[in-house]
Amino acid sequence: MPGVERTLSIVKPDGVEKNVIGDVIRRFEGSGLDVVALKMLRLSPEEAGRFYYVHRERPFYRDLAGYMSSGPVVVMVLEGEGAINRVREIMGATDPAKAAPGTIRADHAESIERNIVHGSDSSGSADFEIPFFFPEVGIFSR
Ligand code: UDP
Ligand code: MG
Repeated sequence: MPGVERTLSIVKPDGVEKNVIGDVIRRFEGSGLDVVALKMLRLSPEEAGRFYYVHRERPFYRDLAGYMSSGPVVVMVLEGEGAINRVREIMGATDPAKAAPGTIRADHAESIERNIVHGSDSSGSADFEIPFFFPEVGIFSR
């Protein structure tokens, strides 16, 4: 058992545009996760590039920074038992064509890039991504 974890999720610009903020949060809450921090903001291309720095050598990096800064996003911290993998399962695979039926990406995403939602992929990623957006005093464990 991984125990209680925190993970960062983002409703990406296409998710905000499609009015699925509530649907994404409902799915997370419905699986027993707690929202312990939440806000809407718009990333600059530089900030988006820093957030996705791990992908700096990938061919899609520049387009990804452009997409992620193209409109407002909703960022949140989710807390609960096995939160990191639970969020990844609810999201579905990166490519919506490969995402399992009933996942957020299978239901809403239009392409491997414009795929609605982000979730930390490991505890190491969560340790970088959560403080990227939220100071510890801005997180409300219950
Ligand atoms: N992405 C892309 N093309 C690819 C792979 C990824 O545009 O071939 C984008 C997509 O928005 C993805 C993000 O880059 O969500 C980060 O990629 P990663 O492999 O970390 O996927 P994720 O963890 O989001 O499933
Ligand atoms: Mg990732």
